[in-house]
Amino acid sequence: MSRAKKRFGQNFLQDEQVISRIIQTIAPLPEDRILEIGPGRGALTDALFKTGCDLSLVEIDTSLTKLLQSRFPGVNIYNEDILKADLSALLSDEKSRIVGNLPYNISTPLLFRLFDCTAQIQDMHFMLQREVVDRLCALPSTPAYGRLTIMAQYHCRAEKIFEVPPEAFKPIPGVHGAVLRLSPRADKPPANPLILGEILKQVFSYRRKTLRNAMQAFLSATELEDCGIDPGLRPENLDLSQYVSCAIQVARKQQGCRKAATITDRKLTQSS
Ligand code: SAM
Repeated sequence: MSRAKKRFGQNFLQDEQVISRIIQTIAPLPEDRILEIGPGRGALTDALFKTGCDLSLVEIDTSLTKLLQSRFPGVNIYNEDILKADLSALLSDEKSRIVGNLPYNISTPLLFRLFDCTAQIQDMHFMLQREVVDRLCALPSTPAYGRLTIMAQYHCRAEKIFEVPPEAFKPIPGVHGAVLRLSPRADKPPANPLILGEILKQVFSYRRKTLRNAMQAFLSATELEDCGIDPGLRPENLDLSQYVSCAIQVARKQQGCRKAATITDRKLTQSS
């Protein structure tokens, strides 16, 4: 068997109890469409394959892809980097379930890509670094709360299912893992996710500043008060619904500016 490759974050699950607990949590059914990211040597794939579900695998490591092809005949196996793959093509129109013991270094960029595809996703179960799971599930006014928390909770319900000690993997990583379930929300809050994302990027780069300062590129202190928000609070103190109010207010402002620009253009054209 080939050696684990550090550059691909290869820490393979060894603990049978942990593997069966993950599978029980996913509870795969024969009628499911499942996409597994980073199947590695097939620790989770085996049980998924045995259900007879419609299974696809995306694995970056060519030597492991060959091993998977011989172990799981009839499964769609893509030797690709999931960060570059065409996700919407992989997911198709029927809702897919996504599974993966993810390399810790790709988890955040991958999650942001998956949030753009939630219309095609039934649910996602991931093993991630425990700290990342804690950030995804964090409450306002706690140190783990930030941009990732709010964007995840805008798109999905996030639940930490259980923690996994480093000894469950080989080679043993330097961090604890945790299993997470993300269930896309049918009732997404009524804010433009691009505007919400821009606001969050800006304010959480000034985490220690008050909103009066951190938010000034988007909303003035008076406009924050109009949204019912105290400008003296800090970015980590606002919950999702308050950020949604800010994003709605920013969208209104931008629309107002566009209308004003159109009127000015029209006036200039008429007078010339
Ligand atoms: N699922 C297996 C297990 O639980 O034992 C392996 C998990 S290991 C932590 C992560 C797996 O993801 C490895 O097989 C690695 O080669 C693969 N991988 C790493 N980066 C990837 C990427 N960008 N796209 C697809 N697979 C990737």
